[in-house]
Amino acid sequence: MRTKIAAANWKMNLNFQQAKDLLDQILASHVHPGPGKKAVFAVPSPFLRIAAKKMKSQDNHHVCAQNIHHKKSGAYTGEVSAEMVRSVGAEYVIIGHSERREYFQETNAMLAEKINLALESGLTPIFCCGEPLQIREAGEQDAFVKKQIEEGLFNLNAMDMMKIVIAYEPIWAIGTGKTATSLQAQEMHKGIRSVLAAKYGNEIADSVSILYGGSVKASNANELFSQPDVDGGLVGGASLNADEFVAIINALQ
Ligand code: PEP
Repeated sequence: MRTKIAAANWKMNLNFQQAKDLLDQILASHVHPGPGKKAVFAVPSPFLRIAAKKMKSQDNHHVCAQNIHHKKSGAYTGEVSAEMVRSVGAEYVIIGHSERREYFQETNAMLAEKINLALESGLTPIFCCGEPLQIREAGEQDAFVKKQIEEGLFNLNAMDMMKIVIAYEPIWAIGTGKTATSLQAQEMHKGIRSVLAAKYGNEIADSVSILYGGSVKASNANELFSQPDVDGGLVGGASLNADEFVAIINALQ
């Protein structure tokens, strides 16, 4: 059975008080992800510690960093390392979000380094992949995403591959209100699983959780999560609203 995950990505939003209030509202709803299900909160770095404290006594709630630097430590003013975020309670880290790839020129080679550092520090990477609109319109999304996965992940051995979570996030659906249809999501997730199977075998491919991201909301989560290869969601905008995100956690199947 693959782990089902609802992951919130708050991006660069909220101040400290607002962050605490949002976490308190979510916890006050007494949402209990059951066995095999997880609620994951990718909060901005300054809020990791308080989020970890609040989640400590909550079963199946985990804290996630939104990024780490691709070097272990050193003279990289303003950057945050894998070890730093782990030491303040993060258990997951998003690697290669399309906003990082686009605005911070993160390459697949850098992302592969980040993945290694994350695993070394005991963090579970959520590796993001997904095509821009012009690639989708040209019908080249399968090859595009395959290359991201090969270059970002395929230096991992089988044991480490089993520790990865993948998030398929078509860029044209992120923050646009345009969601991939559940069939488009299922098709891509199935394709990603077959890319993994060709390299690592069926057993490992079947064990990796693949999340869908791109305008997931309470109103479409059930339909998306009902697809056999969709193991939950990475959720931006809707995760900033407690009721919406609680409904998305409850939609995990
Ligand atoms: C995201 O930030 O990964 C995302 C999918 O954003 P949104 O849900 O707002 O499209």
